[in-house]
Amino acid sequence: MVETISAPRLLNALEAMCDTIEVEKEYLSELDGAIGDGDHGVNMAKCFREVKKKLSESPAAGVDTLLNNVGFVVLNSVGGAMGALYGTFFLKMAQACAGKTELGLSDLVRMFQTAEKGILDIGKASLGDKTLLDTLAPAIRALEESLRDGRTLPEALTNFVQVAKKGMESTKDMMAKIGRASRLGKRTIGHQDPGATSCYFILRSLAAAGSDR
Ligand code: ADP
Ligand code: MG
Repeated sequence: MVETISAPRLLNALEAMCDTIEVEKEYLSELDGAIGDGDHGVNMAKCFREVKKKLSESPAAGVDTLLNNVGFVVLNSVGGAMGALYGTFFLKMAQACAGKTELGLSDLVRMFQTAEKGILDIGKASLGDKTLLDTLAPAIRALEESLRDGRTLPEALTNFVQVAKKGMESTKDMMAKIGRASRLGKRTIGHQDPGATSCYFILRSLAAAGSDR
């Protein structure tokens, strides 16, 4: 059983995350086309191609450096809201694990909490506004609960992904209250949020670093 996430495991997961975003590019842009300007997948794929390049330059980096590198590339290569939000997400994760060589469940909880706070500080979205936060926040609450309940890392991460998926799906029935989509008001109901969807792909990829496979 995997008890901690080492740098090589994290690197694999981050590379797989880049591939997933590439594969899901059209789906993400299609979702954004329904309630936004249709650029989400294209923006994300362009950025994560740069991330993959950056990751290949330092294959022996530690967990904090890996996440820091991802954060800097994302911050600087995605235009608009997403660059700042996801860039901050990874930079805060890196900050919260500075100096660590391996990550256990309690590290992950702290890292995700720090990242969530960073996103809240700059995005100012609330739960139910139909954003990536509706995927992220419930997943982190589930991870906190797993830590309290003494679950193993793989168990906790399996549950984390399931709850993230439910969160993503829950955005379908929400009305967008923030960001570009909020201009469409009630017309956004019935469409899954693109950011909530890319967030699910990111969390699922990260969780794979600590699962038994
Ligand atoms: P843009 O709206 O600039 O075209 P994208 O299409 O790349 O940017 O991303 C849209 C996604 O950004 C939305 O689906 C939503 O999940 C997320 N989002 C927008 N504003 C915020 C915010 N203030 N906080 C958190 N997430 C947000
Ligand atoms: Mg858009």
